[in-house]
Amino acid sequence: MAQDLEKPVLNALNKDYSTERKLTVLEKMYLPEILKGMAYSFKQMFQPTVTMQYPEVKWEPPAVFRGRPVLVKDNGRERCVACGLCARACPPLAISMQAAETDDAKERFPDFFEINMLRCIYCGFCEEVCPEEAIVMSKDYDLVFKSREEAIYGKDRLLVDKENLKERLDFLREYRNGQFGKFWDFQEENNIHSVRNRDTKWETGLSLVALLEAKEAQASAKK
Ligand code: SF4
Ligand code: SF4
Repeated sequence: MAQDLEKPVLNALNKDYSTERKLTVLEKMYLPEILKGMAYSFKQMFQPTVTMQYPEVKWEPPAVFRGRPVLVKDNGRERCVACGLCARACPPLAISMQAAETDDAKERFPDFFEINMLRCIYCGFCEEVCPEEAIVMSKDYDLVFKSREEAIYGKDRLLVDKENLKERLDFLREYRNGQFGKFWDFQEENNIHSVRNRDTKWETGLSLVALLEAKEAQASAKK
């Protein structure tokens, strides 16, 4: 039936609505339907529980889960060499750092490294671009802060031992190797970026770590 647009009717009911289901007499009485609903609820009480009593019971996420980003601590210090790639890739500009130099073979480290957790969107881009596997997405999703200042995590709260991140590191290796084949096979020894100690002529054929060890052995043999 065409509507009279001059006199529009709010929520007009069409009496000829043919597909509307007609209620039976019992349904029209409501009581049997209420009892049916209660019987269904009662039956559900004996079904397996799918909800958790959070926060008393914590959910353990799988390795694929992207929780808050953390810095990998390897042999007591950060793997990060403060290259700044993660800060460049971070869409909401949540990461800031300042590089500093050391006398040891690693040469560079972040003097400070901060992530503003109010800005972080858990995208995982920092993890993807990091050439050192130095920043990874952890399983931690339970973040609480009382102020904006508290939401800025420094190295004290970002550094996590690599042993506690094993599942994620293993997952990344599998995922990246599947994607890039042998091109991505992160070697922990590559975390030394010494320019000072590098075999610049590439005559030895040794890896940097092996080269440093050989040099140390030579030096101690001379003593
Ligand atoms: S997960 Fe994304 S938003 Fe968070 S720090 Fe890393 S790059 Fe930035
Ligand atoms: S990309 Fe990795 S190594 Fe570079 S600054 Fe970020 S965490 Fe450190």
